[in-house]
Amino acid sequence: RATNLRRVRAQWETTLALLKPDLLADAARVRAVEQEIGQQFRVQERRQIAWTRAQAEAFYAEHQGRPFFGRLVGYMTSGPFVALALAGPQAVSQWRKTMGGTRPVQMRVRNPASLRARFGLTDTRNSFHGSDSAETARRELAFLFGDSKIGRNWEHASPQAGNLPP
Ligand code: UDP
Repeated sequence: RATNLRRVRAQWETTLALLKPDLLADAARVRAVEQEIGQQFRVQERRQIAWTRAQAEAFYAEHQGRPFFGRLVGYMTSGPFVALALAGPQAVSQWRKTMGGTRPVQMRVRNPASLRARFGLTDTRNSFHGSDSAETARRELAFLFGDSKIGRNWEHASPQAGNLPP
């Protein structure tokens, strides 16, 4: 039993999910998505945010210079979005799997059950974001929630702290 708990704790992660502006435009879809998310993850933080251009450019700095960068920043500043801190066993890869790959049209063929296949519109307006590694998650969570109490203590968020998924 002690061994099991150790194993669970070792794989315990928190990741950043964004419900992007195209999804936020449809309240019924947001509710449906958040209900599904709540069945799979423990939602540690939730915030509705609207970014300035500078904030969007900073968050996506690694994509500066890519052909879609201007489109991406324009999209992410087109309206409010929701940021969620999702916790659970291997939350980083689990959320990436639930969300699906970048391109919604391709996902409708390859992974029709994924959220991007079901809700995404285009390669840019693909409705969701998910951190791509534990390291990225730490950086992105600090960017979105760094000013909150839990945001400064991600590595201490463990099953013992009452963060077990439902
Ligand atoms: N994006 C785009 N065109 C592309 C690739 C990406 O507009 O050809 C946008 C899309 O919104 C994507 C974001 O840029 O979610 C970040 O790209 P990344 O390659 O990190 O994809 P993700 O990890 O979000 O699937």
